Amino acid sequence: MNVYDSERMAEALAVAGYQPVNAPEGADMIILNTCHIREKAAEKVYSELGRLKPLKQANSDMIIGVAGCVAQAEGEEMIHRAPMVDMVFGPQTYQQLPDMIDDLDAGRRAGTRPRLVRTEFPADEKFAALKAAPRQPITRAPTAFVTVQEGCDKFCTFCVVPYTRGAEVSRATTDIVEEARALAEQGVCEITLLGQNVNAWQDRETGLRLDGLLGQLGEISGVERLRFTTSHPRDMDAALIAAHGANPKLMPYLHLPVQSGSDSILKAMNRKHTADEYLRLVAAFRSARPDLALSSDFIVGFPGETDSDFDATMDLVAAVSYAQAFSFKYSPRPGTPAADHDVQVDEAVKSTRLARLQERLNAQQIAFNQEKLGQTLPVLFEKPSRQPGQMSGRSPYLQPVHVGVDAHHFDQLVGRIVLVKITGAHANSLSGELADG
Ligand code: SAH
Ligand code: SF4
Repeated sequence: MNVYDSERMAEALAVAGYQPVNAPEGADMIILNTCHIREKAAEKVYSELGRLKPLKQANSDMIIGVAGCVAQAEGEEMIHRAPMVDMVFGPQTYQQLPDMIDDLDAGRRAGTRPRLVRTEFPADEKFAALKAAPRQPITRAPTAFVTVQEGCDKFCTFCVVPYTRGAEVSRATTDIVEEARALAEQGVCEITLLGQNVNAWQDRETGLRLDGLLGQLGEISGVERLRFTTSHPRDMDAALIAAHGANPKLMPYLHLPVQSGSDSILKAMNRKHTADEYLRLVAAFRSARPDLALSSDFIVGFPGETDSDFDATMDLVAAVSYAQAFSFKYSPRPGTPAADHDVQVDEAVKSTRLARLQERLNAQQIAFNQEKLGQTLPVLFEKPSRQPGQMSGRSPYLQPVHVGVDAHHFDQLVGRIVLVKITGAHANSLSGELADG
């Protein structure tokens, strides 16, 4: 979502005459777009700012901005702590960037140095203004993100998102379809719909839900693949499950975070579902789409997590068998209910549990990759691999696939879906050869 937001910022700034460059040296403006989800996020931003200090000292006209959820959470504090920062602005204010620049310029012309803090939540305004911004492709990749939903009302007790991104807001169907059509015209053939709770998306006027939106997007000429992330188990409905069997454009990959396999931890997290309900959801998805690849997020060491709670997580992982997963040590976030819990888990215990969990998840990921050996899979080619003489793309299951190709065929392959015979399975990727030579 921050990648998507950075592109929108670049578009908003294009109106004010700015263009993206590849390095901070020589830039007129630097914006750090930040994430606040885990550990020492603010400290990382302050140390990054420290690294940029010589550039600001060499060019005092340079504008330094901090955007995103750390900016939202720090606000005024950042203006005090980081004298070099000119603007601090949260995720719902990007459309105001040209105005902010005007304010900075006007102040500077008048011989003052205004410093701006914008951390309000005018959610509707952001989407409406982004719609009006001219479509300027910053990158020409064949895949693109489209934000359909922002914010979160779930208030999981470990999470800062409801505080930094605000309440759940869905974009209108027509705006999303229009954006997708423009992307398809630029050659994008895979679209990933984004939202903190993407499956809570609902058109406020028509009541259309995500399955219906995916249906409409699949009809756009040029759109060959659809994905969406991140879903909450609580907002899953039968129609979206069925869409995985019925919509040929919808890829067989689902990121469905569970966080823990222990009912008492799930309750303390305020996830509002049990381990068994999650397993039943997984079974329903697999009966709609038997080859579905599943991925998840896990937190180990949530306050009060006992050995047997952790064992329940290990059991759930064994029962599901994931194709991919992201797992984290619980990180207390200031202002969230769990951070004040009196039984915090020891860091060493968290590390041991994380290592055990990741060992199991990695083994499952490798097994999933190995299952594909000998199969022929449609691969959407995206770019040259780091390895010379190879192109890389993605399988339907989101696995990176590397294929040896003659360099003069590179351009022909980018943005095309081509059958690849899988000949190698690795921890994080597959390799193969073009099936028709
Ligand atoms: N909306 C998504 C998750 C968004 S945050 C959902 O509900 O599943 C992405 C992931 O970061 C979460 O799934 C969680 O695993 C992790 N995360 C969030 N807050 C965390 C914290 N305080 N400590 C450790 N991991 C955290
Ligand atoms: Fe955070 Fe996701 Fe829970 Fe919302 S649903 S509070 S984004 S973990």
